[in-house]
Amino acid sequence: MRGAVLYGPRDVRFEERETPKVIKPTDAIIRISATCVCGSDLWPYRGIQPVAQPTPMGHEYCGIVEEVGSAVKSVKPGQFVIGSFFASDNTCLICQIGYQSSCQHAEFVGTAQAPVLRVPLADGTLVPTPEVPSQDLVPNLLTLSDVMGTAWFAADAANVKPGSTAAVVGDGAVGLLAVLSAKQMGAERIIVMSRHESRQKLAREFGATDIVTERGDEGVERIKQLTNGIGADSVLECVGTQQSMMQAIQSTRRGGYVGYVGVPHGVELNGEQLFFAHVHLHGGPAPVRRYLPDLIKLVWDRKINPGKVFDMTLPLDQVAQAYRAMDERRAIKTLLRP
Ligand SMILES: [Zn+2]
Repeated sequence: MRGAVLYGPRDVRFEERETPKVIKPTDAIIRISATCVCGSDLWPYRGIQPVAQPTPMGHEYCGIVEEVGSAVKSVKPGQFVIGSFFASDNTCLICQIGYQSSCQHAEFVGTAQAPVLRVPLADGTLVPTPEVPSQDLVPNLLTLSDVMGTAWFAADAANVKPGSTAAVVGDGAVGLLAVLSAKQMGAERIIVMSRHESRQKLAREFGATDIVTERGDEGVERIKQLTNGIGADSVLECVGTQQSMMQAIQSTRRGGYVGYVGVPHGVELNGEQLFFAHVHLHGGPAPVRRYLPDLIKLVWDRKINPGKVFDMTLPLDQVAQAYRAMDERRAIKTLLRP
């Protein structure tokens, strides 16, 4: 089969790779219905995160089970399944408390930009849909594998409650879906920091009530003006830079919550600033597996449409174009079909 391999900065190739097969009895092999490029794929693509050797890419996936190992009990061939970018046993103590992305046996699933994928720990990782979905649901279901699950975690970690005020830092796909998540959790006011008109439009569609175009200290000031001078109850950080993280912490009211899901690159927090900010800080790699059953139901019942973040769809063999479009911000997020 052919799949995506990153060789170095801005060098993604679609080339021959070994077709995955069952290695351990707990594995499943799935035929990918759709995959996509993640904002976090752009860090190595841009050379900010070095690539030591040619690396297969892709960690967002959904598809049809083709084969399972002898120990797999809960999924079977023919089912449509979604899984997280971290395979988890879903039984260890860490999984039981809901942090499956830090499972004691976690394995990264990182070769999904391909027609076929091996998923370890299939019983703990994969969640089947009630039946094989109609085509129009596939983009929505694909988002649950990472981007939507991550946004949901941002809102959950930031303690978004009915009637509360939420602010979202970042207008990438995660930021936009963080707006949708905050809306779904009942936030009354949702402020999004965005400078791009097309993204502001989608943010409004997802439930944003206010747009802040300023950044840094000015952005913080603007959020304070909108929140009686005290800051937002919940701030959802969806970027991962020093500036975005400080913006998030400083935009939060005393006693409020920051949920941070942007993978940090060069972020350093000052202990004294953090101490006097007086905020709850919670984040990390989203435990997507915890949310999958509920999010699948929301999509299945057509209550949410997170797949709207895909503003470009390409055949998988044009994966290099998909990276380029996102790198140049011509696309919010690109869906790839094998
Ligand atoms: Zn576990």
